[in-house]
Amino acid sequence: MSPSDTVELADAVSDVLYALAGWLLVGLGGLGVVVPVLAFLRGAGSNPLVPAVIVLFSLCLVALGVFVNPRLRRRLDRRRSLGTFGRSRVVEHRVLRSEPHRTDRCVDCGTQVSEGELRRYREEFCLAGVPVYTHSEGRNAYCLDCATADVPSEETAADRRERTEPLTES
Ligand SMILES: [Zn+2]
Repeated sequence: MSPSDTVELADAVSDVLYALAGWLLVGLGGLGVVVPVLAFLRGAGSNPLVPAVIVLFSLCLVALGVFVNPRLRRRLDRRRSLGTFGRSRVVEHRVLRSEPHRTDRCVDCGTQVSEGELRRYREEFCLAGVPVYTHSEGRNAYCLDCATADVPSEETAADRRERTEPLTES
C-alpha cells in the first residue's frame, strides 16, 4: 500500500466517521427538540424554561451535526439563493485537457474528445435554496469546436461582429 493510498483510506474512514457523528448529533438533537415539546404540549411540567433550554441546546446539536457531516456540508455548499424552492438545475463547466486514455465522446458531433469542455448538470429539489433531493445528475463532454460554437462568449461574439462588419474609412 502506497502512502497516498493510506491517506485516501484515512480520508474515506474519517468521512464515514464524521457522517456517523453528524447523523448521531442530528438524531439526538431532533429527539431533544421533539420530546420536550411533546411533553410540554401534554402539560407535563409547569416551567416552560426547562424544555426551552433543552430545545435550544438540541438545535445547537443539530446545527453541529449538519456542520460535521461531510455530505450535508457539501449540500450546504451547493445551496442556491434563499428564495429557491422546487426543482432547480445547475450546470458546472469544466475544461477538459488532453489526457491519454480519455474515452469521452462529444454529445453534439460524436467525435472523440481530447480537449474541450465537460458540463456536469444536476437537477435538484430545493427548499429555501438547500438541495434536499437530487432528481438527476450526469455529465456531458463537448469537443473544443462544439463547446465554443454552442455558447458564444462575449469575446468571440465581439470578434465575429468585427469580422462581419467590414471597417469603412470615411
Ligand atoms: Zn463536437
